[in-house]
Order: sequence, then structure tokens, then C-alpha cells
Amino acid sequence: FLAKESRNGHKYHNLQESTLDIERYHLQNGLQKALENDEFSVFYQPKYNISDSRLIGAEALIRWKHPKLGQVSPAKFIPIAEEFGLIKSIGEWVLEQVCKQIAVWQNLGYRFPVSVNLSVKQFREETIVQTIRSMIERSGIDPGLLELEITEGMAMDIEKALRILQELRKIGLRISVDDFGTGYSSLNYLKKLPIHQLKVDKSFIDDITRDLGDAAIVSTIVTLAHNLNLKVIAEGVENMEQLEKLREIGCDEVQGYLFNKPLPLAEFDEILYQNFGK
Ligand code: C2E
Ligand code: MG
Ligand code: MG
Ligand code: MG
Repeated sequence: FLAKESRNGHKYHNLQESTLDIERYHLQNGLQKALENDEFSVFYQPKYNISDSRLIGAEALIRWKHPKLGQVSPAKFIPIAEEFGLIKSIGEWVLEQVCKQIAVWQNLGYRFPVSVNLSVKQFREETIVQTIRSMIERSGIDPGLLELEITEGMAMDIEKALRILQELRKIGLRISVDDFGTGYSSLNYLKKLPIHQLKVDKSFIDDITRDLGDAAIVSTIVTLAHNLNLKVIAEGVENMEQLEKLREIGCDEVQGYLFNKPLPLAEFDEILYQNFGK
């Protein structure tokens, strides 16, 4: 098959495609067994207040260690999980881990919101509100300590988004719009939907000290957000110059490798201890 392919002009394309298919096949197969084989874990990346560098929250990020392939990025496997109907169970696993962990911190007297990423597909699940409600009840956490990071794609069906977000707000959750500025951006939804925070996408932060356009966009997002009573966090902050620029612009919160990478639980707990004592 390969020999025959190599004689025609599509050789390279087909070879590449079949390599991708093989990888996807392995990932999809692996994902089916990953939950029961305990291959997932949750890492936590701190969020800081920009003015006094206080730790004010964390983002939960899933990690998958495939037995043969090693660490696989969620950017790669989440879309495959969605495609093969596995996102519901994986997403519920993350929510459950995080709610349990918030309960542990809450009982130790640590109080800071932890965010969980929800893909658009998860957000649209019929059962999402009930799932989240029962997880919060079972874990006994203050619902205000759980934040959801959703993307602009959720606003495609604004009526449905409004219904779901209002119910989540009624429970007491915080809502953040992740990767802001990269997706479907009808600004109309910003005033209609009950959200708390915009998270400016890393792609605008990368060159913010050199690219006047990026700086102008971030500055405009901050002004817009503040006028709508929303907070702004910048993701992917990697150096002091970016931090300075974001301070100048008036961004509220920051997150990125300059402060910490996403950390395994034990290392994150160290950071908590350094920040809050106990
Ligand atoms: P995201 O929610 O936008 O998360 C930010 C990503 O940027 C994370 O990658 C994080 O590790 C990385 N990051 C943070 N600070 C920096 C920095 O300063 N520099 C650089 N280069 N990268 C930084 P990660 O953990 O690989 O996650 C990728 C994406 O996968 C996430 O993007 C999110 O969309 C998705 N994801 C991760 N965990 C989950 C989950 O539990 N559920 C769902 N549905 N999606 C998830
Ligand atoms: Mg996120
Ligand atoms: Mg993001
Ligand atoms: Mg992003």
C-alpha cells in the first residue's frame, strides 16, 4: 500500500494523514481506558492579583499520562474525547476531583476560587446544571469557590447560554470567558450574559510589549470589561515586561509561567502554605 502510494504525487500527504490517523486511533483507544486505569490527574495553576501579587485563585488543568505515549496535551485529547463521546465522563471526573479538593482547602481555612475549563460541548450537555449542582451539594463546598471557564463559542446560541448561565449563577458559581478575543465575538453577549470575568487570550499577551496593536486590543478589552463591571485576567504572562505593561493598562489579575506553571497538587499546596501559612 505504502509502496504504491509512494509512486503518486499524493504520497507525502497520504503518509502524513495515515500517521495522524494512527495517532488519533491510539489516543481514542487509550482514552476509553484512561479513567478506569487512573491515568488522569489534575494540576493547579495559581492566579495572582496584579497590584499586590496576592494569590487570588487557581485554574484546574487536566493531565493525562498515556502508558506508552507519556504525557498527552489536553489541547490534543480533549477534542478527541469530544468527538468520541467521552468528554462527559472525563469532564465530570475533573469537576468531582476539583470539588473534593476545594472542600479540603475550605476545611483548612483557605478561601480562593478554583476554575474548571468547560468545552462548548460540555456546556451544552442537557445535564450540566444538575451535574454541577449535585457535585457542589455532595462535596459541601461554598459554590462561590467554583468558577467555570467557558469560551466565546457558548454564546453562539445566546438564548440557551443565557438560560444555563442564569441557572449556574443562581447556584452561586462564578463564570469566566476564557481565550477572550479569539472566538466568536459578538459583543452583544457581554452585556446579556451573567459573567464575572474576561480572560484575555495568551496570543494578545505574547507580543504586548512590542506590538502596539496587541497592546491597544488588551487596553480596549480592559476598558470595556471595567465599564461592564467585569474583571480581567491575562493568561500566559511569561516575563516582567509583560507584567509591567499589563499593570499600566489596568488589568486586574495575571497567570503564567512568570509566576508558576500548572503544578501537581503537592507542589501547589506548598505555594498555598507559603502564601497563607497554616
Ligand atoms: P486554557 O484553558 O486556555 O489553559 C491555558 C493553557 O496555557 C494551559 O495549557 C496552561 O498550561 C498553559 N499556560 C499557562 N501559562 C502559560 C505561560 O505562561 N506560557 C505558556 N506557553 N503556556 C501557559 P494546557 O494545560 O496544556 O491546556 C490546554 C487547553 O486544554 C486549555 O487551555 C483548555 O482549553 C483545555 N483544558 C485543559 N484542562 C481541561 C479540562 O479539565 N477540561 C476541558 N474541557 N478542557 C481542558
Ligand atoms: Mg482556561
Ligand atoms: Mg485560556
Ligand atoms: Mg488560551
